[in-house]
Amino acid sequence: MIGHWLARLRARREQRIVQRRAISDALWLETLSSLPFLARWSADDLAELRRLASLFLDDKEFSGAGGLVVTDAMALRIAVQACLPVLHLGLELYRSFVGIVVHPDEVVAPREVLDDDGVVHEYDEVLSGEAMGGGPLMLSWTDVRDAGVSADWAYNVVIHEFAHVLDMADGEADGVPPLPNAQARTHWLAVLEAEYERFCRWVDRGRDTALDPYGAESLDEFFAVAVEGFFVASHEMRREHPHLYALFADYFRQDPAAQRH
Ligand SMILES: [Zn+2]
Repeated sequence: MIGHWLARLRARREQRIVQRRAISDALWLETLSSLPFLARWSADDLAELRRLASLFLDDKEFSGAGGLVVTDAMALRIAVQACLPVLHLGLELYRSFVGIVVHPDEVVAPREVLDDDGVVHEYDEVLSGEAMGGGPLMLSWTDVRDAGVSADWAYNVVIHEFAHVLDMADGEADGVPPLPNAQARTHWLAVLEAEYERFCRWVDRGRDTALDPYGAESLDEFFAVAVEGFFVASHEMRREHPHLYALFADYFRQDPAAQRH
């Protein structure tokens, strides 16, 4: 009975937060229209997304870098996209971090790599977002702002970075989110690796793929890129990766390609 009691206590706590953090109708509609791919979700799903967004905004701390001021509208646009993957999984999966740092544009990060001869090579990496284990999440506002348009080429920086957060929720960035048991993990890896190898061959041959060719970088990047495709270019992703689509539909408890247009 204690579980039941705790669940009620939690529901009441969440209800208070949602009331305190209520999103106005005007701001909500403006946000939905800036993200046209959301039109495929049902009214019930969108109501739940709005509720989760309030809880997310209450839990996370936004800050602007480089003089950027993060407005309520900007924070909401990020929150809504972040909450989409966990719509039926819950926000618990995002508990590993609090801070979200929003940069005006892409960030150039100096990197060092040690080669086999022990020589250090320095290079610059251009980042539109970054998720680090336990650390703050970084996003480029330019990329977030263009999410409505970039869905056409299966690109969504917020969903990409939060896919990494899900992947790392079990401690490792290996393309596998927390799963109930070892058998589920084995199955997940079998599907993901097979689709990844096929995808890498397509990219090598210069094929025009539905998913971002950046996914060929590594298995965990392929996972993040495939999650982007699953949510914002669902039909194209399902057509090219039906087995992976089915795996994701089962995991996320969502079937975005089957929803209305
Ligand atoms: Zn990535």
